[in-house]
Amino acid sequence: MGIQVFMVSAILALCAASLPSQAVAQDNAAQEAAHRQAMLSRLPADAAKRVFGLVTTPAPGPARAIGDYSKGCAAGAVQLPADGAAWQIMRPSRNRAWGHPVLIAFLERIAAAAPLAAGWPGLLVGDIGQPRGGPMLTGHASHQIGLDADIWLTPMPDRRLSPAERDEMLATNVVAADLNDIDPTVWSPQHRRLLEAFARSPEIARIFVNPAIKRALCREAGADRSWLQRIRPWWGHNYHFHLRLSCPRGETECRDQAPIPAGDGCGSELNWWFTAEAKHPAPGPPGIGPRVSDLPPACAALVQGH
Ligand SMILES: [Zn+2]
Repeated sequence: MGIQVFMVSAILALCAASLPSQAVAQDNAAQEAAHRQAMLSRLPADAAKRVFGLVTTPAPGPARAIGDYSKGCAAGAVQLPADGAAWQIMRPSRNRAWGHPVLIAFLERIAAAAPLAAGWPGLLVGDIGQPRGGPMLTGHASHQIGLDADIWLTPMPDRRLSPAERDEMLATNVVAADLNDIDPTVWSPQHRRLLEAFARSPEIARIFVNPAIKRALCREAGADRSWLQRIRPWWGHNYHFHLRLSCPRGETECRDQAPIPAGDGCGSELNWWFTAEAKHPAPGPPGIGPRVSDLPPACAALVQGH
C-alpha cells in the first residue's frame, strides 16, 4: 500500500512536469514562438533550457549520448533531412530534427520498411531533439540525449507538404473524448501494425502511447504478445507516439532507464490510468528547470561560450 501511494505520487509529480508539454505538442509556428518568448522572459541566463534552446548548430566530434533521457545532452548529432522517400519532417521551423546518428539511421530504415510491414505509407516525424540535445524552451521533459523521437499518428499523405503546411497542420487524435478507449472512427489496423513494427525493433527501449492506445493494442494483439511490454502508457500521446532507443553499445556516458517490469502490461496495472485522478491531474506551470551546471559536466562543456 505504501509503495502504491508512493508510486502514484511519483507519477503525478512527473505528470505535473510533463502535462504542459503535451498541451503544446500541437502548437503551430505562431503559438510555439509565443511560448518560447514567454519562457525566455522568465529564465535566468544560465538556465539549461535557455542555453540549449538557443544553440542552432550541433556540437562537433564523435556522436555521444550524455546523461539521462530527461537530463542530458548530445554531441555529434545529425539532422534527419526534411524529406525522404518515406518520411516528412513536421514543424520544421522548430529546428528539432537532430538526433544521435544511430537514431537517425533507425528512423530512415523503419520509415522505408513501414509500407510493407504495416501498410503505413510513410512517417510524419515530429520533434526529435535540439542540435546539442538538452532541455527545451517548450514541450518535452525528455528528448535530451538524441535517442527520442515523436511520430505522428497521421499517415504520410501521397504528396510533399509545403513548409507552411508542416508548421500549421494538426495531427490526428486517435483517442475518444472520454479518454477510455481509442476513437473507432479514426483508429485503424494500420495504427496497430505500425506500433507493433516499432516495438519489435531490437533498438527500441520503450514506446510511449496514450493509455487508451495501450488498451486497444492489448485487445488487438495476437498470440505473440512479447512486443507489448515495450509499449508504455503515458499522458498525452494521443496525436503522436514517442519512441526511445536504448543507449548505443559502448557509450558509457549514456544512462539507460531501469528495465521494464515483466509482462505485457495489459493487466490490472493498466487500470489506474483510467481513474479520474490519472485522467484529470492538476497541471503545474512549466518550471525553470535545471541550470547548465546541474547537467552532467560533459554537457556544460558542450555549450561553453554559448
Ligand atoms: Zn516525445
